[in-house]
Amino acid sequence: MTPSPIPQPNASWLETKRSCLEHNVALFRQVLKADGGRASPRLGGVLKGNAYGHGFEPMLAELHSVLDVIYVIMAADALALRALEAERGWARRQVVVIGAVTAAEVRALAERGVQCVLGDPSWERIGLELRAQGSGLRAQVHVHLDTGLGREGFRPEAVARDLAFLPGMLDVLEPVGALTHFANTEDVTEQNYAQGQLAAFDAGVAELQKLLPGLPLERHAAASAAAMLLPEARYEVVRVGIGLFGLWPSNETRISARLVHPDWNSLQPALSWRCRSQLVKSLPAGSYIGYGCSFRCERDTTVAVLPVGYFDGYPRLTSARAHVLVNGRRCPVVGRVMMNHIIVDITLAAPQASEVVATLLGEDGGESISAETLAAWAQTINYEIVTRLGAHLRRKVI
Ligand SMILES: *Cc1c(COP(=O)(O)O)cnc(C)c1O
Repeated sequence: MTPSPIPQPNASWLETKRSCLEHNVALFRQVLKADGGRASPRLGGVLKGNAYGHGFEPMLAELHSVLDVIYVIMAADALALRALEAERGWARRQVVVIGAVTAAEVRALAERGVQCVLGDPSWERIGLELRAQGSGLRAQVHVHLDTGLGREGFRPEAVARDLAFLPGMLDVLEPVGALTHFANTEDVTEQNYAQGQLAAFDAGVAELQKLLPGLPLERHAAASAAAMLLPEARYEVVRVGIGLFGLWPSNETRISARLVHPDWNSLQPALSWRCRSQLVKSLPAGSYIGYGCSFRCERDTTVAVLPVGYFDGYPRLTSARAHVLVNGRRCPVVGRVMMNHIIVDITLAAPQASEVVATLLGEDGGESISAETLAAWAQTINYEIVTRLGAHLRRKVI
């Protein structure tokens, strides 16, 4: 759980637009329902990475009631979620911890009705420890199948061998689901590899059902990209993360999605990042700016010093490429990004101002800077940009 931020009137802040979240949730519901013939899958939300940087607790307040299942990485987040439900009188949701857990965590989670993912052979020992504790608790688990990502999970062809311990542990472990995760849905516009993973998943689930006859298993495989592009991957639940916040898993996904369903195009990014200037000043032509004197003013220049830097998640690699928005105009970041500061040239955007508000991410006037743009400047992906936004930053929902 994010620590409650210390009030920092001078620091940059993040705004999440409620109307965008609502739109994106409604869009997923509507397109998933429109899938001819099949029953609509349940909508699961993945709130990892501090809810993709938007803030775990504020996003729970927005999304808890509209998601059918909530997936988190860490046991501590699930426990915080249950505490919030109790404190605020929210109805309990199905909650699944998809990250690694210890035996002690599994017990604490089982006590609170939180499910875990059984994804490696260490679970045999976890089962034995639960039994030795003799609490009578049964931990509900989803079995992870590794169909081609090479991360957690059991290989489908080895289910009978590697999960041979499971049928003898049903007194402490209760399998309730099966999942897999795609390796290559975002990087391509053709989905052959994903089709192979789907076939492997079906085979693995069939093996599981032989091993555990009569146990109904909730199947889930699709993160945002697969939920958009592969109707057959939707099964009983989808596990959508980045898409809820209106961000695209990749450009390839964006290009492919409109062919599957034109409405995907209307996804709305919910996040903005803004900062009030610490000071505005004029520097004469010939002055240098920033560490390494990497920038020299060609003319008399008005700059705004912004109290935001790589400590807050503004990547240093954007130096000399980035701009921010002031009064709806692009203002280049001049010199290097520092730990707690960037300096921007506002000569054209706000020549007379004594103070400005800069937009680092999001819209201002007719201009906008997307997480994808910032990611491109920093040679990374939008996922990394938003999840590395400092947990200390103020976050508001507007
Ligand atoms: C991150 C993650 C998701 C969600 O991915 P998005 O691309 O953000 O939708 C789903 N399932 C698992 C196992 C994940 O790790």
